[in-house]
Amino acid sequence: MDLELAPDDRAFRDELRKWLARNVKKRATSKPRTLEPGAEGTVEGQRAWQRKLHDAGYVGIGWPREFGGRGASLMQQVILGEELSRHGAPGIIGILSVQMVGPTLIQWGTEAQKKRYLPKILTAEEIWCQGYSEPGAGSDLAALQTRAVLDGDHYVVNGQKIWTSNAHFADWMFCLVRTDPEAPKHRGISYILIDMKTPGITVRPLVQMTKDAQFNEVFLDNVRVPASNIVGEPNHGWWVANTTLQHERNMLGSPTHSANLFDGLLRIARARRKNGRRATEDPVTRQQLAALKTEVEAMRLNFYRNLTEAMRGKEPGVEASITKLNITSLNHRLAEAVLELLGPYGSLYRGSKHLVDDGFWPYELMFSLGMIIGGGTSQIQKNIIAQRGLGLPRAN
Ligand SMILES: Cc1cc2nc3c(=O)[nH]c(=O)nc-3n(C[C@H](O)[C@H](O)[C@H](O)COP(=O)(O)OP(=O)(O)OC[C@H]3O[C@@H](n4cnc5c(N)ncnc54)[C@H](O)[C@@H]3O)c2cc1C
Repeated sequence: MDLELAPDDRAFRDELRKWLARNVKKRATSKPRTLEPGAEGTVEGQRAWQRKLHDAGYVGIGWPREFGGRGASLMQQVILGEELSRHGAPGIIGILSVQMVGPTLIQWGTEAQKKRYLPKILTAEEIWCQGYSEPGAGSDLAALQTRAVLDGDHYVVNGQKIWTSNAHFADWMFCLVRTDPEAPKHRGISYILIDMKTPGITVRPLVQMTKDAQFNEVFLDNVRVPASNIVGEPNHGWWVANTTLQHERNMLGSPTHSANLFDGLLRIARARRKNGRRATEDPVTRQQLAALKTEVEAMRLNFYRNLTEAMRGKEPGVEASITKLNITSLNHRLAEAVLELLGPYGSLYRGSKHLVDDGFWPYELMFSLGMIIGGGTSQIQKNIIAQRGLGLPRAN
């Protein structure tokens, strides 16, 4: 592993830094921003920000040039993520579109699908949501029951999705439906693209513990979807779906956010007093800071190790599960450590004039719990690591 940047990568980073310095508003404090797309500003404001980034050539940079990307190396994609985060730039609203459905369409879509959908994903003209989970199918995703029945050149879709992030403003949904109820459960599923304006779709927001409603129930009642909207072959959706899931796990595994959270923790520890002295002089706090910093560094190095493997052409395997499992838990514990330092102030939430960092930390504590569940729970990641990584037998 060589931690020095190659000349091309350094030039890319320097150009990017200049652009960010000109285009990202300076913020009063160094408090971290959340990764959640719906969390900041209006939807229109966020679409405009993505468009601006796109115009400058910084959205979907890993996509091939023919589809509007820059064919950028993995290293440059990492640099982009790190620099955006370092400059406190907002996340992009179309993150699920750019990082999940876009690459899936590039791999599995027809030429017509690529031409129709990819350009509007980059510009945020069309935002996508992910219709996988159902009330009876989360971890056991292949148990999904939403039915799609062929009727002429359309499928008629009936069923219910749940926990669908951003469905309340999404234009499209990439959705898993059962097209062959007789086949073994993994083999009767199709991956279909549904226009959220189609008659028969009802979106009902669910309020989370953060008090935001960023995910939803989606009811599909005789929704007619063109058969040409299937991605890959009918009944082969499970394999297409897994491409998307792999991209999702990679997306949830960046260590930059953890590093930012640690910086915030350290800033607060330096400013607070504990047991009559500065918190950073308190031995218990020092132990805790050292342990957390060690974990952040371990995840950073683990990330570089995975990156090196990926740059050598190795397909990601259990590494994505190891990263997802550890980083989501680490982020939650970093927020917890801050709240412990803040004492009673830590539990103040929206509406109080005594908020620390605008109430970011209790938000992060609650939000990060969701990340431990979303994209495959920690228990499921442990099963994957145990079975596929360590070769342990399945526990039944
Ligand atoms: C913030 C957030 C955003 C989300 N966004 C989306 C979205 O946009 N689109 C979408 O489709 N879904 C979304 N989800 C849903 C998410 O994918 C599911 O919540 C997740 O897969 C778990 O499924 P479940 O909630 O049905 O829990 P269940 O699968 O019912 O699990 C309940 C508990 O049992 C454990 N468990 C289940 N099976 C096993 C097993 N085999 N071994 C050990 N333990 C097990 C789980 O770990 C968990 O603790 C989101 C979830 C969250 C929290």
